[in-house]
Amino acid sequence: MIRLASRLKSAKPSPTLSLNAKAKALAAKGADVVSFAAGEPDFDTPAHIKDAIKAALDAGFTKYTATGGIPELKAAIIEKLKGENRLDYAPDQLLISTGAKHSLYNIFQALLSPGDEVIIFSPFWVSYPDMVRLADGEPVIVETSAADGWAPHPAQLRKALTAKTRAVVINSPSNPSGAVLSKEVLTGLADVLKGHDCLVISDDIYERLLYVPGGFQNIANVAPELAPRTVVVNGFSKAYAMTGLRLGYAAGPKDLIAGMQMVQDQSTSNATSVVQKGAIAALRGPQEPLQAMVKEYEKRRDLMVALLNKIPGVKCRVPEGAFYCFADVGELVGKTYQETTITGSLKLSELLLEDFLLAAVPGEPFGAEGFLRFSFATSQAIIEKGIARLADFASKVR
Ligand SMILES: *Cc1c(COP(=O)(O)O)cnc(C)c1O
Repeated sequence: MIRLASRLKSAKPSPTLSLNAKAKALAAKGADVVSFAAGEPDFDTPAHIKDAIKAALDAGFTKYTATGGIPELKAAIIEKLKGENRLDYAPDQLLISTGAKHSLYNIFQALLSPGDEVIIFSPFWVSYPDMVRLADGEPVIVETSAADGWAPHPAQLRKALTAKTRAVVINSPSNPSGAVLSKEVLTGLADVLKGHDCLVISDDIYERLLYVPGGFQNIANVAPELAPRTVVVNGFSKAYAMTGLRLGYAAGPKDLIAGMQMVQDQSTSNATSVVQKGAIAALRGPQEPLQAMVKEYEKRRDLMVALLNKIPGVKCRVPEGAFYCFADVGELVGKTYQETTITGSLKLSELLLEDFLLAAVPGEPFGAEGFLRFSFATSQAIIEKGIARLADFASKVR
């Protein structure tokens, strides 16, 4: 047996990726699995983006680039952040990486010393706490509730801040809840953070997948005083259906970005050369394919929420963004299905996959026991078929 690093003991493999693997293995054996487990768009990458990548490949653009990204893509991202997000950055305040996940990993590696704390609101994207642990930091979880629209209370944040707090993570629209934090909520959090010298990490990966009027805003828009110590994380995966192409970025304080660049220099170097060309096409090209996707997501969301709320024992608030329904199935927990006690969301998810060939992600690893996450990045026909299976299951629970 090889003895592995002690820091690995505190981290867990991603439960969403493992559920996906299980569902795919069943499907490969010929089972008619309906999966709501995926955390990625079902749409194809828009053609003009693929064309730009192909052209770059044919032109031989296959060598190392600058670690932090090619100047032309940096310029396009800076232009986007200024035009759309009303945030100003110089090129040395921006680092392009192999996905937004990589950007976040770089942040924690560059920022944290052993014992440093990072505040994360639950339900949270499963990778945040483990990335913090892999950087020898301590995740500090602050709970929110569906009844409050998953909005944290400023008083809770104030209580969680300590001398060791180095960062607070904000993810709106949220994975898994789909909740969007209002201007009022962000202002409340900002007022607390103004009195505490720490970094604010704004994970804006779902900014384009928004189903409420008023446009996207993050904490740096609402509280410009915090902008100098906010790092904005974003990427191309969710908005442009480019998950497998791996491209993301972080924009923020120059010192932090320099530290992140050092981590990246000594690990992966640059993001894939030709994909960077595709990203320029994504930002500068037509945005209609994206708008069409968002319209379709909204229809699917309405369908899925309506179907979920028809099932006795299931409650789902309407998500304002992203592509997830985060349903409260707490009433089913503690009951039995064919001699098996439903001990929690993990058991529920297991029974649904094994007996009903339905993949839904348990809420427990997201810090929300009694919930299941259903992705609506799939067709309306599949939504109808899959939620009917959940209804069938719920009718058999005693
Ligand atoms: C998908 C996702 C990411 C990472 O996206 P990349 O594919 O690495 O760009 C980051 N944060 C959240 C909340 C996500 O859901």
